[in-house]
Amino acid sequence: MRHCNSVFQSEDIWFLLDKDDCVNRKLYIASCPICNKQIALYSYCDSNLENYFEKYYYSNGARKIKERLKKEVTSTLQGFRTKYRAPYGFRYGINKEIKKGGKIVGLKQYACDFWGNKILVKKVLNEE
Ligand SMILES: [Zn+2]
Repeated sequence: MRHCNSVFQSEDIWFLLDKDDCVNRKLYIASCPICNKQIALYSYCDSNLENYFEKYYYSNGARKIKERLKKEVTSTLQGFRTKYRAPYGFRYGINKEIKKGGKIVGLKQYACDFWGNKILVKKVLNEE
């Protein structure tokens, strides 16, 4: 996020319900480290994922958009960080080879989420 010519991390991200015409809706929330203003960045894609939109809101505007969107929150980054350690929400799988002396002897399968959490789901060893 940016303000006052500086770029900074959001303090929280709200993940919002999809709508018919816009998906991947998120609200990034932070206060500017320079001027201390409350800032919200609303981002979304149109439903065919061709266009990405974002809009900044400041101070009162930020408070209003938070008030308006809080009913549509499905999860938040803060909530996720405090509540869950294991992968949560949308997951994808990763396979990792287990090697021994240059030979692939098995496979480890992980479930991962987009926040970088990972758990081992299955370990498959090739039969000798
Ligand atoms: Zn600022």
